Amino acid sequence: MSFEPQPTPLSAPTQRMTRQASVVWGGKVLTIGGGAPVRVQSMTNTDTVDAIGTAIQVKELALAGSELVRITVNTPEAAEAVPAIREQLDRMGIDVPLVGDFHYNGHRLLTDYPGCAQALSKYRINPGNVGKGDKKDKQFAQMIEIAARYDKAVRIGVNWGSLDQELLAQLMDENAQRSSPWDVRQVMYEALMTSAISSAQRAEELGLKGENIILSCKVSGVQDLVAVYRELARRCDYALHLGLTEAGMGTKGTVASTAALSLLLQEGIGETIRVSLTPQPGEARTQEVVVAAEILQALGLRAFVPSVVACPGCGRTTSTTFQELAKQIDDYLRQQMPVWRKQYPGVEGLKVAVMGCIVNGPGESKHADIGISLPGTGEAPAAPVYIDGEKAMTLRGAGIAQAFQTVVQNYIEKRFGQ
Ligand code: SF4
Repeated sequence: MSFEPQPTPLSAPTQRMTRQASVVWGGKVLTIGGGAPVRVQSMTNTDTVDAIGTAIQVKELALAGSELVRITVNTPEAAEAVPAIREQLDRMGIDVPLVGDFHYNGHRLLTDYPGCAQALSKYRINPGNVGKGDKKDKQFAQMIEIAARYDKAVRIGVNWGSLDQELLAQLMDENAQRSSPWDVRQVMYEALMTSAISSAQRAEELGLKGENIILSCKVSGVQDLVAVYRELARRCDYALHLGLTEAGMGTKGTVASTAALSLLLQEGIGETIRVSLTPQPGEARTQEVVVAAEILQALGLRAFVPSVVACPGCGRTTSTTFQELAKQIDDYLRQQMPVWRKQYPGVEGLKVAVMGCIVNGPGESKHADIGISLPGTGEAPAAPVYIDGEKAMTLRGAGIAQAFQTVVQNYIEKRFGQ
């Protein structure tokens, strides 16, 4: 069989055009959807009543790259603390909008605490938790009217753990009447989407700007999330917030979130994301931001931190030197980013290679902006450094790590310094 070579089509995420929401705070605006970059969100796990502790965690999340941070607003005391959190963030120079997460009593808290309603830049309202029976519509309307009055963005955030049970029961009854009833999971999907879209339409009727509505329908299964969001994206042009809810801990949560979000983001679905990781004991809350940013960066959608390409090591690297150097450089680049982001615009696109031996070391290092090829077992104890594809120097001795860090710093200053 003869084979005529053809150029391989390039792979890139597609883009879905949506309405554009504006999240406003202190005279600044962050846009979501409508062609804006996919935004990274996170959520605190402090007691919101502890205004200082919460502001410190918001600061950590923002410095890690979170562009919006959500806080629980669950009690009158928490609502009272919200303006103090905002003021503390402003005093610390932390430029990030706050999102309030409301369930059950949001209508009362937003009404009774106007300072809270104004200090927040966006409200998350769960239509499954706004009240039952005839109170549901009234309490939902009360929150939407406040959002419209203060011109706030709103995420109508449906979650299958707190799905509107009256709606689900109604759709189950309708399904039972079908000549060929749907699978129960499909009825559940329908309930999630109906709850989100009909709540959004109601919010627009109540006076909230359509562009300031963001929808989410979170589920905890990867295939469920993909199915629901594909259909949701087909049915509406609201910006969508994407996240696998209750993703879990560590590797499992990271992999499941990455699988689900990547499939959808590649199809242009998702204008803002959150990775809902359960922190392992002692793990920083910021890990969820690191993972979210890495997903966007790996897909080529955004760049947040310089990337470190490192080989996995093998029998040619019997010492841990190159693993330590790769980690040291990665940690160093991440730690510097909060300052570098302002000082060296564009530095997030930098590519650094840390390689373990001569097999792929020089080649991969030449593809990077700066690369180092460490000596493998049995090789001469010298580490050639490549800058912009050319061999620039050879490092030797015990201080290779520190010397390479200085080379990276000097390169950044020269290339990205203003
Ligand atoms: S570059 Fe060398 S040390 Fe690294 S994985 Fe390849 S052969 Fe092994």
